[in-house]
Amino acid sequence: MADVHDAPVSNLVLPDPCLVLLVGVAGSGKSTLAARLFAPDEVLSSDAYREQISGDAADQRATRAAFAALHRDLRARLRSRRTAVVDATSLQRHARSALVRMARDASVPVVAIVLDLPEDLVLARNAARDRVVPEDAVRRQLAALRKALAPGGLEAEGYAQLIVARSAAEVAGLTLSRPPTRA
Ligand code: GDP
Ligand code: MG
Repeated sequence: MADVHDAPVSNLVLPDPCLVLLVGVAGSGKSTLAARLFAPDEVLSSDAYREQISGDAADQRATRAAFAALHRDLRARLRSRRTAVVDATSLQRHARSALVRMARDASVPVVAIVLDLPEDLVLARNAARDRVVPEDAVRRQLAALRKALAPGGLEAEGYAQLIVARSAAEVAGLTLSRPPTRA
């Protein structure tokens, strides 16, 4: 059964290894949270793969190649039983299900961390960034997020834990405890 946390301060106790799916629109703070809680080598970022492939993290034409590389590296990492964090929007069910399948094949549990921040906050943050995602694209992402959070969405996808942060304060209150590594 999914363990739903949405208290203001929440200490995450994650299995090790696990696959962490960050779910959120552009500007919701996925990359910032990943950098705060996880080691750089654990984080597989779709923007970083786009940047590597095309020289431009925003180049949507590089999306297919970027995800092919991300999936290849994720599969290898999960097979060696190392925790991995996917920093991508993961708003579409098909995007999540591809990742969940890889974890299942490696018998690694999946934890979803959803950043469901107020629309005006993410639109303002996005507008203030160096690399602005067009507002209509962010609005489409917000609609996809609503769908993912509706009954039959994320809650029905069988995550070991489903964490939903609904404000910047809740995101700031997320801390992480990792079980001691077995000898
Ligand atoms: P992503 O698109 O979901 O990866 O979002 P980012 O992590 O890149 O964050 C988007 C913007 O919001 C960046 O300019 C961040 O500096 C800013 N940001 C992210 N998290 C926070 C936060 O907790 N507080 C504040 N004030 N800004 C944040
Ligand atoms: Mg990011």
